[in-house]
Amino acid sequence: MLFANYKRADVCFERGEGVWLYDTTGQRYLDFLGGIAVSSLGHAHPALVKAIQEQAGKLLHVSNLYRIPEQEAAGWTLAQLCRMDRVFFCNSGAEANECLLKMARRYAAQKGLPADVVVFENSFHGRTLATTSATGNPKYQEGYQPLLPGFRFAPYNDLPAALAALEHGCAVLLEPIQGEGGVVPADPAFLWELQSACRAAGKLLLLDEVQTGVGRTGEWLAAHHYGLEPDAVAVAKGLGGGVPVGAALAREKLASLITPGSHGTTFGGNPLAMAAVLAVLENVDLERVRVVGAYLKERLECIPGVREVRGHGLLLGVELEVPAGPVADACLSAGLLVNAVRPNTLRLAPPLILTRQEVDHGMKIIKDCLCPQTTSAAVANAPSCN
Ligand SMILES: *Cc1c(COP(=O)(O)O)cnc(C)c1O
Repeated sequence: MLFANYKRADVCFERGEGVWLYDTTGQRYLDFLGGIAVSSLGHAHPALVKAIQEQAGKLLHVSNLYRIPEQEAAGWTLAQLCRMDRVFFCNSGAEANECLLKMARRYAAQKGLPADVVVFENSFHGRTLATTSATGNPKYQEGYQPLLPGFRFAPYNDLPAALAALEHGCAVLLEPIQGEGGVVPADPAFLWELQSACRAAGKLLLLDEVQTGVGRTGEWLAAHHYGLEPDAVAVAKGLGGGVPVGAALAREKLASLITPGSHGTTFGGNPLAMAAVLAVLENVDLERVRVVGAYLKERLECIPGVREVRGHGLLLGVELEVPAGPVADACLSAGLLVNAVRPNTLRLAPPLILTRQEVDHGMKIIKDCLCPQTTSAAVANAPSCN
């Protein structure tokens, strides 16, 4: 009855509490994937549950034909935390990126710049036709031709190639850490040089922080780690803690190009989603993300068979010496959720409420699942830390 577009594991979760999930057979699992960086407050967080319940009892939806105080409050708070001027609420990451791309088109037209947007190999920007066209991975584009024109690809972290492409464009759109691409951080110098080139030429730095935003990396935006001041940013995944919501954030010069009637979305910013956003923004603790994230990274680095750990805060890519798929499967059977984001890379994006004890529990499972699949030489060479 359903489209066969997902490869699903044969497990059904019934309820959750904090970082734990319980399936229909009563088996419990430690959730180190967080619904792919979505469940920022974990499962059944009392403040999020209360906010949604109370809002549902008052009003779910009214339409953007009217003022929505909850949207004004959430927009104000989100803009403050992300140091941006204005917010457009939508329903997904792809839709947030669409808004960035539409603003870039209007900006190019206004300034007489070429309309192309520079995007990067190994990127992921979503599943709509425009964001699929902007995604630097042929796997996601197969069979969807003709793709939308107006994108120029450059290799990630290749500054000369990016600058050459930018000559023929009005903007760059990139993930400061490529998530689906295997948790690959940009070189800081690459980002700084791109930003100065954009500034100098009056072009736009657009960031896709759908996966990295809203505290995931230990800052409200990953851009803040690098001291970047983007012209616009897309966020979504963790923003509603599991309630579907995305947002495009922009500086005034770009936001002002979206005039009444020129863009919109029916569900965007409805009171229910806004109650969730406000609860998330009030309860994410950046310091905790930094401290527990550093601890998680340190623990992973001492596991035999782990070659490298990339990422910031609680978005980590764990490069293994063995294929990651079988390890992820073994972890699931042993009661730990992670996913294989690349052939040899596990992705960890646990709820931001994670504790050290939960890290220890998860590490034991990863170790047990990895050891049988790792050669004895790798075990012997691994640093021993307990
Ligand atoms: C998940 C993701 C998207 C797409 O978000 P959807 O909510 O699935 O549309 C876009 N960009 C990045 C970086 C993502 O991780």
